[in-house]
Amino acid sequence: MLVNMNSVLEYAEEKNCCVGAFDTPNLEILMAVLRAAEKRNEPVIIQHAQLHEPEMAIRVIGPVMVRMAQEAKVPVCVMLDHGEDMDYVKTALELGFSAVMFDGSSKPYEENVRLTKEAVALAGEYGASVEAEIGVVTGHEGKVFEISSQEDAYTDPELAAEFVKATGIDALAASVGTVHGFYTTKPNLDFDRIQRIKELTGVPLVMHGGSGISREDTQRAIRCGIRKINYFSYMSYAGVQGVKRLLAEREVKYFHDLANAAVDAMEEDVLQAMAMFALE
Ligand SMILES: [Zn+2]
Repeated sequence: MLVNMNSVLEYAEEKNCCVGAFDTPNLEILMAVLRAAEKRNEPVIIQHAQLHEPEMAIRVIGPVMVRMAQEAKVPVCVMLDHGEDMDYVKTALELGFSAVMFDGSSKPYEENVRLTKEAVALAGEYGASVEAEIGVVTGHEGKVFEISSQEDAYTDPELAAEFVKATGIDALAASVGTVHGFYTTKPNLDFDRIQRIKELTGVPLVMHGGSGISREDTQRAIRCGIRKINYFSYMSYAGVQGVKRLLAEREVKYFHDLANAAVDAMEEDVLQAMAMFALE
């Protein structure tokens, strides 16, 4: 069933755990994530990131995501990930997305506040929830980036509190030491900062760049107040590995055999991620 982000995050808050948010820019990933969620009988968030638009148009995959969420046996939030302009946010909402992330984190603070407020007002007309970000989680899904250890990339807890109050967002993406994509050096999470941001803002916190964080660090971050983790790169890579294994085993004549091998391998990876997020 299709639900908005707040009801999924309430579940996480009640259980003191975290819900996975998975970008699903193709049918195979979408099937893998929903199968895993149904197998675990847990709510899940499926997302389309604006940066995936060149590979998959939201107008193509969006209606499929909404339809599959409606037909799922578990609560599913369909969310825009890293919406960068209001037209794109509006497109997602019109397609029936139940939540949007507006990302104005690269803009000056005042402009981020102004645009985020605009996104909150727009989403409100559709009954959708809003996540926004301050501080910068560097990197992009699908690319390899160096970790920035610069202090100014991290979210300032006092400013985060002011931002949440000024914008009325439902969840905050905080930069606490993770990056998008694949890590080239060891991630250095700032757990005290997570706790402080949680205390001062009072809203569920979102950690982007969930791939490649150790189980121990991930679960410690959840105990500090992370309620949504965006996880993509490792899941996608698991699909690649599944295809490689099948090709090494036997000759493949039909593409659907490759697609199904990818779905199975990604489902397995999502099941493991979801267990980790549930603090198992
Ligand atoms: Zn992100």
